[in-house]
Amino acid sequence: MTQSQRPIMSLWDQTADEADREPLGGTDDVETDLAIVGGGFTGLSTALHAQEKGIACHVLEAAHIGHGGSGRNVGLVNAGLWLPPQDVRAKLGERRGAALVETLGEAPAYVMGLIEKHQIRCEATRSGTIHAAHSPAGYEDLARRAEEWRRLGAPVDLLSAEETAAKVGSEAFFGGLLDHRAGTINPMGYVRGLARAAAAAGAEISVGTRATALRRDGDRWIVETNRGRVSARWVVLGTNAYTDELWPGLSRGFTIIHFFQVATAPLGERGARILAEGQGLWDTGRVMFSLRRDAFGRLIIGSMGRVVGGEQGLSRRWAARNIRRLFPDLGAVDFEAAWHGQIAMTPDHLPRIHRLADGLYTPIGYNGRGITPGTIFGRAMAELLSGGAEEDLPLPLSTPKPLAGGPLMRHVYDTAFTLNQWLKAR
Ligand SMILES: Cc1cc2nc3c(=O)[nH]c(=O)nc-3n(C[C@H](O)[C@H](O)[C@H](O)COP(=O)(O)OP(=O)(O)OC[C@H]3O[C@@H](n4cnc5c(N)ncnc54)[C@H](O)[C@@H]3O)c2cc1C
Repeated sequence: MTQSQRPIMSLWDQTADEADREPLGGTDDVETDLAIVGGGFTGLSTALHAQEKGIACHVLEAAHIGHGGSGRNVGLVNAGLWLPPQDVRAKLGERRGAALVETLGEAPAYVMGLIEKHQIRCEATRSGTIHAAHSPAGYEDLARRAEEWRRLGAPVDLLSAEETAAKVGSEAFFGGLLDHRAGTINPMGYVRGLARAAAAAGAEISVGTRATALRRDGDRWIVETNRGRVSARWVVLGTNAYTDELWPGLSRGFTIIHFFQVATAPLGERGARILAEGQGLWDTGRVMFSLRRDAFGRLIIGSMGRVVGGEQGLSRRWAARNIRRLFPDLGAVDFEAAWHGQIAMTPDHLPRIHRLADGLYTPIGYNGRGITPGTIFGRAMAELLSGGAEEDLPLPLSTPKPLAGGPLMRHVYDTAFTLNQWLKAR
């Protein structure tokens, strides 16, 4: 299905300047070095970097490029993980933890470098992101994070409530942590741009092509799809929160939560004071919310949970109520789009790189931070398959462990987040 024939899945799907890919022919009897399942940041970064190392790649995407989290997210190109650096080191050990923190600390610059190198049209801004304190305790947490990042030499500023208000255009926050390494993008623009760059490097990309089975045939993998069969030496699954039953049990290693966003119509001069320097923001609340503008002056606000209701529905009421709370002088706004996506949460909030079998790998479990890790882990897959050492991977290789109560937790979170929307929409 071409973009004009399928439902639009996010604002980014509509506004990205990079073109969607048209479906190609089937995958009958394709022979390749590396079959990649999933056309998001992970799959396409793997394809781009592997092709550059002379590994022939074939990407299989069930729907279209960016159908998963990559085409639906907030677009905050952040450094590091959700966890502060000291927690990453505590969980992974000093050597691996410090190396991961360093690699992901430099990751926004790497992503911006790729955007520059391949001239990816994705509304990139490089004026940082703000983690905003929703409470005094949130501010204390940010102060600890700031201290740790500064100790590591990272360019971060702890902002007072007044400084935060000046940058955000709202007095709702107790302070903020401005990370100068970070930036924002139109994520669909970025993922389509990665696809264009990977294809230019020689990768084959088949959209509308679902991998339905994986089996070993001698020293090769056979990937059965709805449109034929691919034989490959290696397989990388880049399916993250959209993982299906292709590899039994894989999706039981994490819980799914949803995150929704609502975009206003362009606000013009009225909105010029909001995040005037172009930063994106998220807060320290347990049920966190996100806020940013796009290149056309739309305000985009989001939080945990699904879109509930249509034009006059709960999620738009939640958005209107919160925009009024943050910007009481703004006046009424019209909404243009609302959408949600799935996030894969692991129990310790760390991502994984699993080796599922000989020659079969998956970076997975990004906990809602996947633009930089997806790009970097894709590069790491390419390095490993071109002869790199396992010890040099950003994470130690692991095997999936089923999470007790995972599916039940999805329902618990869904219910709790809908209730939260309802409470905060009143
Ligand atoms: C609403 C939301 C907001 C977020 N905000 C941010 C943010 O601001 N910053 C940030 O860094 N991260 C953010 N994230 C997280 C980030 O978007 C994800 O971690 C990232 O997109 C994961 O990329 P991926 O390539 O691994 O997987 P995805 O982009 O999810 O791609 C997986 C793909 O696999 C395909 N697939 C699945 N099964 C098969 C199969 N059997 N055969 C073929 N194809 C298959 C799917 O169709 C899908 O396209 C957010 C996520 C969401 C949902």
